[in-house]
Amino acid sequence: MSWDALYSSAFDRVRKNLGKIGGILLAYNTNIDAIKYLDGNDLERRVETVGEDEVLHYAGELPRMVENVGQLLGSILWSIKHGKAAELFVESCSTRFYMREWGWDELRMGGQVGIMANLLGGVYNVPVIAHVPQVSRLQAGLFKDGPIYVPKAENGKLELVHPKEFQADEENCIHYIYEFPRGFRVFDFEAPRENRFIGAADDYNPNVYIRPEFREHFEEIAGRARLAIISGLQTLTRKNYREPFEEMVRHLEILNARDVPVHLEFAFTQDEIVRRSLIDVLGQFHSVGLNEVELASIMEVMGEKGLAEKLLADDPVDPIAVTGAMLRLAERTSVRRIHFHTYGYYLALTDYKGDFVRDALLFAALAAAAKAKLGDVRSIDAVVKAMDVPVNERAKTVEERLAGEYGMKNGIADINGYQLSFAPTKVVTRPKSTVGIGDTISSSAFVGEFALH
Ligand code: ADP
Repeated sequence: MSWDALYSSAFDRVRKNLGKIGGILLAYNTNIDAIKYLDGNDLERRVETVGEDEVLHYAGELPRMVENVGQLLGSILWSIKHGKAAELFVESCSTRFYMREWGWDELRMGGQVGIMANLLGGVYNVPVIAHVPQVSRLQAGLFKDGPIYVPKAENGKLELVHPKEFQADEENCIHYIYEFPRGFRVFDFEAPRENRFIGAADDYNPNVYIRPEFREHFEEIAGRARLAIISGLQTLTRKNYREPFEEMVRHLEILNARDVPVHLEFAFTQDEIVRRSLIDVLGQFHSVGLNEVELASIMEVMGEKGLAEKLLADDPVDPIAVTGAMLRLAERTSVRRIHFHTYGYYLALTDYKGDFVRDALLFAALAAAAKAKLGDVRSIDAVVKAMDVPVNERAKTVEERLAGEYGMKNGIADINGYQLSFAPTKVVTRPKSTVGIGDTISSSAFVGEFALH
């Protein structure tokens, strides 16, 4: 069969079976993204009001966190000057107040849980139970309609309600995203590429705060789930990771005892001790999802410097290096499924076999292309609109290398007792939006696999 035919058949079968999956538990990070498109004159005026002396120093060197308005503006200038993304925690109340007054152009759902809840519940119509650290009115309003639930405990009894019906006005966890286009000018700085600076006015997600409902009623919550996806651990540091880790491992044990497969959505984790600790608990997960930077960062701490370098050396990423790294990770941790995604193709290494693994990757690639093409995907039927996006030409050489090295046929090969599954992706040339596209890919493939199996 051609790839297009495989795509089409995978989509039809996943769509038909999504209704049979049952509840999906999503934990732990949800926040509000407030996007501000920067205006050069406005920014200059603000810097002058605060005083250049208070600001310009930080354009050369980022502070560790934002403790005043001068540091905020300086950090934004740093991002512009270098064309690099940065995210800092905003500690001071007066700076948070300043950001709120400065305002935003657009509010979006943020955090992997929030994004996946809107996709799985709001678009695929699969029931989800989401961990939302703080359900404020602003936060609740960002959830799509559909079978999306948050646990609510009253008099020791647990209820599942849509976030809009939760009605406890909790705090706002706002990530202020200051965006600028390539060539953006302010003072003598010119942005070499488009990017953003993020100031997180959020005391909950960075510490992986876990709600009392999830601490006190987790057995009951887990009882409603057939699958689970865990994310949001990337912000932890060696100073604060122990307590949330302990609670997460307790959750994993409860889910494992109930045979609920759990996926870890791995995002780039700066702190090496936290990264190492994640590798240590990976065997308790069924599955993990990551991109090339994240896989390389894992190889680094596993002492595989050569592999780490190879993963970042070529474009498209060398699939033989990826497979080598996935095998190392699977052997070291016994995690049963590793899903790798990069620009142009996906690979999955599983300790079980079947076409459904590859077909779930194809479904995910279609969902990602739909997201890139349409920006907001409204329903599962809209996903099919990406069928006319062509399969990436450059994936051909990747496929040929996999065929040569491992005898791969129709995207499937056997290696050392594992199955390697491959999907060449559909790449949208002028994407409308790629925000949260990695989460779309990983959650669609994981859930798609269980729809097909
Ligand atoms: P993010 O954290 O922004 O979600 P990731 O690196 O996790 O980033 O995911 C980005 C993935 O999105 C890439 O690996 C690639 O597979 C996919 N992707 C990026 N741009 C496009 C596009 N224009 N069309 C289709 N897929 C894309």
